[in-house]
Amino acid sequence: MKNELVFENTIMVTQPSLPNYERYMGYIKGIWDRKWLTNNGPVHEEFKNELKNFLRTKNGELFTNGHLALEMALKALDLKGEVITTPFTFASTTHAIKNCNLEPVFCDIDPVTYNIDPAKIEDLITEKTSAILAVHVFGNPCDIQAIQTIADKHNLKVIYDAAHTFGVEVDGKGIANFGDVSMFSFHATKVFHSIEGGMLSFSDNSLAPTLNALKNFGITSPETVEYVGSNAKMNEFQAAMGLSNLEIINNEIDSRKEVYTNYLHYLEGLDDIRLLQFPDYVKPNYAYFPILLKDHKQRNLLCEQLGKYNVITRKYFYPLCSQFDCYDYDVKETPVAQGVSDRILCLPMYANLSKEEVKQICEIIQYELGDFK
Ligand SMILES: *Cc1c(COP(=O)(O)O)cnc(C)c1O
Repeated sequence: MKNELVFENTIMVTQPSLPNYERYMGYIKGIWDRKWLTNNGPVHEEFKNELKNFLRTKNGELFTNGHLALEMALKALDLKGEVITTPFTFASTTHAIKNCNLEPVFCDIDPVTYNIDPAKIEDLITEKTSAILAVHVFGNPCDIQAIQTIADKHNLKVIYDAAHTFGVEVDGKGIANFGDVSMFSFHATKVFHSIEGGMLSFSDNSLAPTLNALKNFGITSPETVEYVGSNAKMNEFQAAMGLSNLEIINNEIDSRKEVYTNYLHYLEGLDDIRLLQFPDYVKPNYAYFPILLKDHKQRNLLCEQLGKYNVITRKYFYPLCSQFDCYDYDVKETPVAQGVSDRILCLPMYANLSKEEVKQICEIIQYELGDFK
């Protein structure tokens, strides 16, 4: 321990940005006057249109959170049987598959991007496979072309968990425009948030009525309930937060870029750490700052030590989804994912993290890693 490097106030792993208070209250006043609180109100509709513009996608629907959006997507696509997915993701991805009575089939990941490895997908396809559910992990897009080629060849649907990729572009094209459906999460911990919230973008606009019914109990007309739906609607207060935050999203991403650049500056030379880098055809959103340590022991020790300096980090994603107690899978099938999960650590990452704070965090890491050798 180096006592002079201890932070007086705890550095959290993330911190939500909040919009201008008056802007938000302006929307709230409107909601008060109209007394229209949820079920596709005017703020909801405005937010939806603004989002479609920002993400440059034709079709989009809003949901109360990203997780239920994902479940509604799987239901709307009427999938059956098995879904090939990654174990290196947040619980939500796999839970959505399970909750829709589908079977997740875990595919190993790429050691550089941490995304599903397309070269390993085809071996897992059986006559029961109906879809590939891939995750753009840490805001780094999947190998979209390779995945689509496999899906076309085997007549599979492609769903992206794009919870980490709000505002990301690939070759100048918005990330919302790939696969059959993409899910975005607007949870408070994400780059862009509406407190809680979610969105689906989709290529086939005939999905819109189905999605709208599914998020409202499957009701299609006053006397018709066509689907076993859910309640997954976004309310007006969430939409108001989203609209206010959308006004400052470019600043948010710019500030995060600065934090990212500062981290790179202080960490790039360290032997024991592998950093996530983005290819030049990607416009990133700097959602996370994961580092990959030498081994499991070093990762755990560093996480613990940083805590003593009042720096909160996350073993994200550890354990793998395939190792959850609530499931029962053979985890030896995905050794690359296992290795990454054992060694990954996400450092604090949010717009307000100052250059001095980043420098101090990196000094602690440097000092502690030196100690471990
Ligand atoms: C946050 C997240 C989700 C769930 O989104 P919510 O809006 O919190 O329901 C799903 N998948 C991934 C990868 C996430 O990070």
